[in-house]
Amino acid sequence: MTKTPVVRAAAGIVAAAGLWLAWSQVARQPLTMEKVTDGLWVIIGNGGNVAVMPTSEGVLLVDDKFDQDGPEIRAKVKSITDQPIKYIVNTHQHGDHTGGNKAFLEGSAEIIAHKNARANMVSQKMPGLPRITFSDETQIFLGGKEVRVQYFGRGHTSGDVMVFFPSERIVHTGDLFVRGAPFIDYSSGGSLTAWDQTLAAALKADFDTVIPGHGAVSKRADLAQWRVTLATLRTRAKAACAQGTDGMVGRMKLEELGMKPSPLFERSAPGLCEETKN
Ligand SMILES: [Zn+2]
Repeated sequence: MTKTPVVRAAAGIVAAAGLWLAWSQVARQPLTMEKVTDGLWVIIGNGGNVAVMPTSEGVLLVDDKFDQDGPEIRAKVKSITDQPIKYIVNTHQHGDHTGGNKAFLEGSAEIIAHKNARANMVSQKMPGLPRITFSDETQIFLGGKEVRVQYFGRGHTSGDVMVFFPSERIVHTGDLFVRGAPFIDYSSGGSLTAWDQTLAAALKADFDTVIPGHGAVSKRADLAQWRVTLATLRTRAKAACAQGTDGMVGRMKLEELGMKPSPLFERSAPGLCEETKN
């Protein structure tokens, strides 16, 4: 079994200017590092949650926040191990999860992402392209530890993966699971309908603890509940869109689901109406 420390939810949501859609706060948050199990840490704050797995052969990270967070991520890793950062898995292409890529690639790290995530980075002219991609599944073996990275289908974007740490019974979900209103990035192949199937497939895996893309460390039951919430959102979107796209977000009554209508959710409205019209 795993210990799940209570971690402060830290995801503020604004629409980022430019091509890179990001979940972040305008004012930079200080980063905090929490020990999730004896073998895994998480760095929370500012961009997406970063998982840190130190081993005797180097360190594996999941995601690397924004470029400006690189030095603080390095310092936090250094506080638990002298080993170099060997691998970084990007859960998807958004700049609050891949912003550190370029600097880490110039150091000791190789970056691995789903082929669709890399293609999204190429088409959006983002820096720090991963040198290694895969289609359905890949594994990384480092210092006697196994990390399994799996693609279950579209959701938040077309290239979201989940990263499993079997020895810790933990999964990092990227933005397929967040606290607050979801962002369906239709410009990057996202789909609320597909998201449901993607989570159903992921929930067949064996794990206890969930590191979401943003927000506090959670449990398996929270991810299962998130899937139910997304199904409710889909039903509400379909009903709200029947009266037109204008004002549809207000008609969905997100507050009843414990969510605030974020600018990124508002941005998803036309795509939501398009995909739920049949
Ligand atoms: Zn994202």
